[in-house]
Amino acid sequence: MTSSVGFIGLGIMGQPMAMNLVKAGYRVAAYNRTAGKAEPLGAAGAKIASSPAEAAREADIVYTILSDSAAMEEVTLGKSGILEAIRPGALLIDSSTISPTVSRKLACQTAGKGASFLDAPVTGSKHGAEKGELTFMIGGHREDFERALPLLQVLGKKHIYCGPHGAGLSAKLAQNAIQSTMVEIFCEGFVLAAKAGVKPETMMEIIQSSLARAALTDFKAPFIFQGDFTPYFPLKWMHKDLELAMEAAYAQGVPMPATSAVKEVYAAAKAQGKGDLDYAAVVTFLEELAGVKVRTSQKAEP
Ligand code: NAP
Repeated sequence: MTSSVGFIGLGIMGQPMAMNLVKAGYRVAAYNRTAGKAEPLGAAGAKIASSPAEAAREADIVYTILSDSAAMEEVTLGKSGILEAIRPGALLIDSSTISPTVSRKLACQTAGKGASFLDAPVTGSKHGAEKGELTFMIGGHREDFERALPLLQVLGKKHIYCGPHGAGLSAKLAQNAIQSTMVEIFCEGFVLAAKAGVKPETMMEIIQSSLARAALTDFKAPFIFQGDFTPYFPLKWMHKDLELAMEAAYAQGVPMPATSAVKEVYAAAKAQGKGDLDYAAVVTFLEELAGVKVRTSQKAEP
């Protein structure tokens, strides 16, 4: 077992993931920009690092899960960043959802230090992170994937090797294009039905009895119907992923007309100040346009 991990980024996802590594017996040196978020890790037995470089210095595996490409570049390449201190032979695993192009550049720069790099974005949200049940999409050298597996098995239940550097991220962006569109179109349909006086619970019974039923909307519906938008996956990050998906689409000459339209709906909801709510709050933007609410008395259960 690799025993020494430098863990950087203790947000919604990183905090429970790092905690699971500590519980599994890994020696974790944890860093977060906002230092207060590292305190629970310290209390659980992790060493608290004062910079990304300090977290990386002794580590066999350096693990990052940060908001976006700019954050990942700053933490990796910036002053007191990971590459100032990473050991030759170490492995940097990045689970942030960032640009595949930026990720490939970071993989090259990491190789310049004699270390290896995997893009390993995840799906499964906060619950999956807490339960160690994430699904990983992985890009990089297969031997690094094999080496990372024991640690990734603590964090997730499914680990899918997608191909060379950037391939994990390309798969992740495709997945979120699908997921964001499913939730948005579900909300559009329910707003239409509500405007016509059809109750959300009636509409849900219809959807669940049809081929349109999906695990994603089964999960999200009770939260939508309750107006509970506690962020499991913040809307601003879903919008970021749609921007990244469109960038990839333009670069590869792939038309994505529905994704392009849906991106603008999330952009509008974000511009209204809803970026820190869960992405299911996209329904409130549609509700405001239509002048109706999709609500039941059903209780949301995570
Ligand atoms: P989050 O709660 O906002 O956490 C973001 C983390 O990035 C925080 O630790 C934040 O530090 C750090 N950060 C941001 N900018 C930084 C900078 N310039 N320098 C250093 N640290 C910086 O986000 P999250 O929900 O955990 O998501 C993290 C990543 O996972 C994102 O790429 C997201 O798209 C992806 N993801 C999220 C989910 C989900 O359900 N939440 C699911 C799959 C994938 P501070 O605490 O100081 O702000």
